[in-house]
Amino acid sequence: MKALVLEKPGLENLKLKDLDVPNGEGVLVKIVIAGLTMLDYMSVSKGENTPVIPGVEFAGIIEEGEMKGKKASIYTRTFDGTCKMCKRGMEMFCLSGKRMGIDVNGGFEEYIRVPRENLVVSDLPWETLASMSISALAPYHALKTADIKRGDTVVVLGASGNTGIFSLQIAERLGARVIGITNGPLRISRYTFTYDEAEERVKEITDGEKADVVINQLGASKFPLALKLVRKGGKIVVFGTMQGKDTNLDLSWLYLNHVSIIGTVRGTLKEMMELAEICKDCNPYVWKELALEDGSYALSLLFSKQRKGRVFLKIG
Ligand SMILES: [Zn+2]
Repeated sequence: MKALVLEKPGLENLKLKDLDVPNGEGVLVKIVIAGLTMLDYMSVSKGENTPVIPGVEFAGIIEEGEMKGKKASIYTRTFDGTCKMCKRGMEMFCLSGKRMGIDVNGGFEEYIRVPRENLVVSDLPWETLASMSISALAPYHALKTADIKRGDTVVVLGASGNTGIFSLQIAERLGARVIGITNGPLRISRYTFTYDEAEERVKEITDGEKADVVINQLGASKFPLALKLVRKGGKIVVFGTMQGKDTNLDLSWLYLNHVSIIGTVRGTLKEMMELAEICKDCNPYVWKELALEDGSYALSLLFSKQRKGRVFLKIG
């Protein structure tokens, strides 16, 4: 079978190889499609555990057992279900868990074996299935953690990125009024503004009150703006630092405005199953679909200024 193997850190070290179909434990899945995320880009650049087959978000057809022939999205964090963190319902922190595509092999290959409990069987379109385990799950978990209520105003920074497009769509399905902020060409939400316009327009739409929740999936570069867009008593959720991790925070401002700053990461298996319902008609905004052998180029496209939606690798 074909596989893209990362032998050492760096996009240029992603090499197409011919490997044996994996043997051993778990259920064999024929991978159909992988969605490319910034996490893939970062993990390929850093290469924490090489050699490895990257790919943190993918879907395929179950090849054996009672579910043979069914389509499935893969929950890409392994977990034992028995440790302290699993018992708290936080499989993403499982003490013996691994991240597929980073610590162990992921989706840039034609076949993989995954634990049965990591299969989320669903008939949703392939591109949606290949967006579930990170791009849709991370924002869903963030929005749930922020305890979004119907009618809340949610501002999404980075509204045209992989997680941004799902933050907008999921917040809307949870009953929020959504405002997207982006300088990119993809403008999904009825209310979409550039970063320069953001402060004024958010105030205008909310009659001066500002947002109940600000979603910041980009990190430090957008944190000062997030502070300007949140209302008194509101919440800021951070679940990405692609644009920087260090920031300044005036603690007097924080308590005097009664603002909560929440960090979240990934999401739970249960939430991914809920997503298969909630996100039934979510649009994954397909921009480009490339072949497995074009993996390095495809990852570099994540930074294209022309990018209007997601980049996928069509594998099988
Ligand atoms: Zn565990």
